[in-house]
Amino acid sequence: NQVITLAKRPVGKPSMSDFSLTTEDKPSPADGEILLHAAYVSVDPYMRGRMSDAESYIHPFEVNKPIEGLAVAEVVESKNSDFEAGDFVVGFLAWKEYQVSQGKGLRKVDADIAPLSAYLGILGMTGLTAYLGLSEIGKPQEGETLVVSGAAGAVGSVAGQIGKIQGCRVVGIAGSDEKVAKLTSEFGFDAAINYNTTDDMATAIAENCPDGVDVYFDNVAGEISDGVHQNMNRFGRIINCGAISGYNDTSVPTGPRVEMMLIKKSLLMQGFIVGNYEDKFPKASKQLAEWLGEEKLKFSETVVEGFENIPKAFLDLFEGKNRGKMVVKI
Ligand code: NDP
Repeated sequence: NQVITLAKRPVGKPSMSDFSLTTEDKPSPADGEILLHAAYVSVDPYMRGRMSDAESYIHPFEVNKPIEGLAVAEVVESKNSDFEAGDFVVGFLAWKEYQVSQGKGLRKVDADIAPLSAYLGILGMTGLTAYLGLSEIGKPQEGETLVVSGAAGAVGSVAGQIGKIQGCRVVGIAGSDEKVAKLTSEFGFDAAINYNTTDDMATAIAENCPDGVDVYFDNVAGEISDGVHQNMNRFGRIINCGAISGYNDTSVPTGPRVEMMLIKKSLLMQGFIVGNYEDKFPKASKQLAEWLGEEKLKFSETVVEGFENIPKAFLDLFEGKNRGKMVVKI
């Protein structure tokens, strides 16, 4: 039974040596427990934060202990009347091929409704993040302009598509020409900017957003966001969802550098954590599933195969190797 542990806390950019692949005996379920076999494991940028011991909204991983994250698993044996062998569940699980659980916090998922991996993406945490970030903070109105950074990723690609459903002009920012082309050709964005070939983000945003920016869904922060902030319209809304450009920084930048602008333009800038909106998950999930069924939303993912490749898939998030949701198929 393979297990992946955190070998040491990464300093700066994480590397393979920060993880350890070990084995342990396959466990047997006791009364009230189920034996789970991982089917799809989610790797997510927020996990970088849990690898450090800094205080956060979620407790840090422990060194030499298995990493845990969202995963879809199959119940292979059940001694718990709530579950049957053959059920699939999603929830926070250890990075282990096999593990036992009492079933607490696990939700059954149905492979007939959507592919199992979708419950880690568009019908899971990242889809909910896109939906709730917009509905709770961004509140886009028809005819407004929405800018999305990290636009070709799991959250960003969904946020942009929802913006289109809601009648906005949507402009995406991503890290390659290929991603930018896909945003407009496949995901219906009105325009997209490759930040790696753009020297002056403020001008690029101005050119692509002739009416200014009303809502900014920010997944990356840093210099990319500086350029967007300069183009915000009065009463604009900024959703601070992620800051991946700084996750591997070893010192904390001072800021925000935008206070004067927040005042002058009466902007709302609010930090967002999807877990704060748990009571809204059922309604949001239902809407996302409906849009998916009506083909108003496209489902995009990068599937890496093999349990041992989980750490590499995680590291590749910081290299922009994924298109849409990055998942590992076991
Ligand atoms: P993604 O699928 O977007 O994957 C990460 C992407 O980030 C990469 O593909 C890469 O795309 C981009 N990226 C990597 N390094 C940089 C950099 N230095 N500067 C700019 N872009 C970079 O991940 P998710 O959709 O899962 O998450 C997106 C963001 O949302 C993350 O910051 C994450 O932490 C956050 N998040 C927050 C949640 C919350 O509740 N607050 C919940 C879920 C996610 P590219 O090629 O375009 O550079």
